[in-house]
Order: sequence, then structure tokens, then C-alpha cells
Amino acid sequence: MGVSLTVLASGSRGNSALVCSSRTRVLVDAGISCRETFKRLKAVGEDPHQLSAIVITHEHADHVAGLAVLARKLGIPIFMTGLTHHAWARAERDSTGDLPALASLEIFNPGHRFQIGDIEVMPFTIPHDAADPVGFTFRTEGTKLAVATDLGYLPPNVCDHLRGCDVLVMESNHDVEMLRVGPYPWSVKQRVMSRVGHLSNHALADFFRDDYDGSASYIVLAHISEQNNHPELARGAAVTALGPRQTLLRNRVMLAAQSEAVQVRL
Ligand SMILES: [Zn+2]
Ligand SMILES: [Zn+2]
Repeated sequence: MGVSLTVLASGSRGNSALVCSSRTRVLVDAGISCRETFKRLKAVGEDPHQLSAIVITHEHADHVAGLAVLARKLGIPIFMTGLTHHAWARAERDSTGDLPALASLEIFNPGHRFQIGDIEVMPFTIPHDAADPVGFTFRTEGTKLAVATDLGYLPPNVCDHLRGCDVLVMESNHDVEMLRVGPYPWSVKQRVMSRVGHLSNHALADFFRDDYDGSASYIVLAHISEQNNHPELARGAAVTALGPRQTLLRNRVMLAAQSEAVQVRL
């Protein structure tokens, strides 16, 4: 048992992760279908019906595509901010014609911690072009884990939340040069590169070099673009930036994937 973090899926085609203590299981985002979520949970030995709650970072489809069905099937509490809920409900209504109803909606405010079982959840504001986007840290059984993806840059308040973490799930979205010469229309390239877009390998490397405290046993690189990045480019940039602080035992750099689960056990 103990504490674990599993990235079930990561990337622009869907994001979902699972944070577990010995007795609590929190799903972070529901960006893949209910069926695929169940399949990947079972593949790592988890029973979907044992989930305690779902927490949502923001309303973009790659983070909520499976939410309505998952919520209906599981009936567990769904945590999100009021603005995110409003944006999500409006988008659901526009696509299906019905205002979606959540059996158990729990509203939280960024910067205010809340408790799910024995996991303390701290949501913090991140710079991204959504209604009220957040990252999370999770504290349980003497450990601290962070999930920070979908952010245009790393402002000081976000860096503060990332201190003292045993596991860091960090966005390493694109290689700036690949994005520049890649197939996206210019307007999309500008959005991705903007202060409310996505974090580049380079920007994350700057964080590792200048602001990272070296505390994590595991660093999981996430939301890696399939069009504008390569997993080994992302890993190379991170490992180079971590430099001598990356040893065999600490700072293990792992790659989250779109198509399969990646698990870290503490
Ligand atoms: Zn996303
Ligand atoms: Zn997003």
C-alpha cells in the first residue's frame, strides 16, 4: 500500500492521474473516457469503485472529457472551483443540450486547502487560458506530491508550492524550435507559447536550474506534445538542467505518456 501517484494519461488527447494513500484514492482530472479510465485503473490493479473523489484542474476538454459519465457511474464527490464548474456546465450544455447535474459537487477556492480522507489537497492558481485553472499539491502520510501542468510560465507563487515535494509532475509541453517550425497554425503556436499557454522544455529546465529545491525522489514530465516535442528531448533538457543534483537514487526523471499509465510508489 503506501503512497503512490499514477499518471493514467497525459497529453493533449486526455489527462488523468491517481493519487493514493493507504486508504484514500483521488483522481486528478478526467480527460479520458470513463471506459478508458476504468481500463487503465484496472491495469494498475486499482478498482474504479474504490475512488474517493475527483478533483479538476480546469475545464479544457483534455481534462474533463470523461467527467460527466464518470461522475454519473461512480456518484463520488467532484471538487472544482465555482468558475471552473460554471464554464464546464456551460460547455456540456452547449454540446449535449442539457445542463449536466453532478450528484455531489464540492466547490473549492484556489489557495484554500481541503481534505479528502487522509489526503490534504492544496489548489493553487496557475497561469493558463481557462476560467480558473489550478495546480495541486497533496500531503499524506508524511509525503508531498504536486501536479502542475497547463501553465504558460512558472510564477513565484507556483514555485513556492513546488518546494519540499517528494513527487513532482511537471509540464514539459513543447520544444520551442519544434513548435516554431511545426504544423500548427500561427495563432495556435502563439497561444501555446504565450504566458497563459503551455510550459516548454526550456522553461521547465530554467526552473530546475534556478528555483527547484532538489527535494523530489521522482520527477514525472507530463503533457508532452506529440506534435511539437519528443519524449527524449524533454527528458534530455530536464536531466541536463538537473545536472549533478540528479543521482541514481533521487530525482529520477520519468515520462508520462498519452497511451499508457506510469506509476510512482513512495
Ligand atoms: Zn491540457
Ligand atoms: Zn488546458
